[in-house]
Amino acid sequence: MSYVDEMIQRAVNKNPGEPEFHQAVREVLDSLRPVIDRDEDMYRRDAILERLTEPDRVISFRVPWINDKGHVKVNRGYRVQFSSAIGPYKGGLRFHPSVNQGIVKFLGFEQIFKNALTGLPIGGGKGGSDFDPKGKSDREVMAFCQSFMSELYRHIGANIDVPAGDIGVGGREVGYLYGQFKRLTGRYEGVLTGKGLTFGGSLVRTEATGYGLIYITEEMLRDHDMTMSGKTVVVSGSGNVATYAVERAQHFGAKVVAMSDSNGYVYDPKGIQVDVVKEIKEKRRGRIKEYVDAVPTAKYTEGKGVWSIPCDIALPCATQNELTLDDIRTLKDNGCFAVAEGANMPVTQEATDFILENKMLFLPGKASNAGGVTTSALEMTQNSERVYWSFEKTDSRLKEIMVNIYAQISTAAKEYGVEDNFVIGANIAAFKKVSDAMHSQGVV
Ligand code: NDP
Repeated sequence: MSYVDEMIQRAVNKNPGEPEFHQAVREVLDSLRPVIDRDEDMYRRDAILERLTEPDRVISFRVPWINDKGHVKVNRGYRVQFSSAIGPYKGGLRFHPSVNQGIVKFLGFEQIFKNALTGLPIGGGKGGSDFDPKGKSDREVMAFCQSFMSELYRHIGANIDVPAGDIGVGGREVGYLYGQFKRLTGRYEGVLTGKGLTFGGSLVRTEATGYGLIYITEEMLRDHDMTMSGKTVVVSGSGNVATYAVERAQHFGAKVVAMSDSNGYVYDPKGIQVDVVKEIKEKRRGRIKEYVDAVPTAKYTEGKGVWSIPCDIALPCATQNELTLDDIRTLKDNGCFAVAEGANMPVTQEATDFILENKMLFLPGKASNAGGVTTSALEMTQNSERVYWSFEKTDSRLKEIMVNIYAQISTAAKEYGVEDNFVIGANIAAFKKVSDAMHSQGVV
């Protein structure tokens, strides 16, 4: 059996009940075959893949908190510190009922490669909890965040591990988490990113993942003699990533006709009004169906059918495995030629295979949604220097890095004879950097 096949099997055997982690390992290792096969003995001898697929550590803890009725609730918290080969652990916290160890491990594993692609000195980690902030009062969210941080604080630090937001963790949650960290340690340091602008946050962090997704998509189109201008786009989700992807796509002249949430989707043939979405989601914390109250010409449909809407470009920005083989077949039949992942692993393995077989353009999340962590790393830089950069400076640095990520993944794909296969290109470009650092640092 080849080293890669052995390691995929090992990951499955050693991590029972973690299908998302198996999926992420399989996806990455499969695409590393051209690199590993060239020097299998060396990789085997150094056990690079065993070490790469085993987190440095997995921390799991109890999070007790009191709800508004005075009842004690208990959730489970996680932090997976996956790899510090190229820098301190860096990756978001997700608060969602679906969170479990396998999901956090899949996200932490992906984060290693994403962070490597940014070219910045950050390792891979991820965390979160099965707590659901939806429907909770501000006080309940604060109580939960304070309890969560009361355990997490001993494992993190500006030069150790720097968490950020993800699904269910936005500016409000990061603020409460940061306040509690400061209270417990007495230290004012860049230990979390995505902070408020008045206490060390960076301009552009809110917009970064969505904007970055559009910068790299535009670069891919430019490389294929096209632009976003005039293209019809469908975006899933209506959270942080989705909202700012829509905003930037429109800035480049695209027409975004649909967005969704976990209940349903809106179709607005005249083009989504992003201010209405921000009002609903960021201010009122409401549901996407409320969009039609403000824009009666739009149509709301309950359920998962957002990919049935014809478009040129699909941007899945909600959650993992949300775009299936059936969805991609429908998209292609309707004329879609490009998919770029805003979320982490939103396209299933079968759908990805279909995309690649059918020569559609495809940007994997670890490249295309790296704008968030990029700007988080820029926030760390600003915190260390005790300065604030302007919006323009931060945005142009973000754009430069996204364009550079495209160059790296496209060059790696060409080098290994799979031009335009950015899945292989991204995994190889990132892996080479991380495995080189692991090799140099000896057996640790
Ligand atoms: P938000 O919580 O802001 O928004 C998530 C959106 O996805 C909401 O519209 C939510 O709908 C929808 N969604 C979540 N879970 C499901 C589900 N199971 N089925 C259908 N829809 C769902 O999160 P973000 O925008 O921050 O994150 C979205 C994705 O992007 C995630 O995969 C995240 O890991 C990834 N990402 C985020 C980064 C960031 O900077 N924020 C950076 C890089 C990646 P509802 O409100 O109904 O739950």
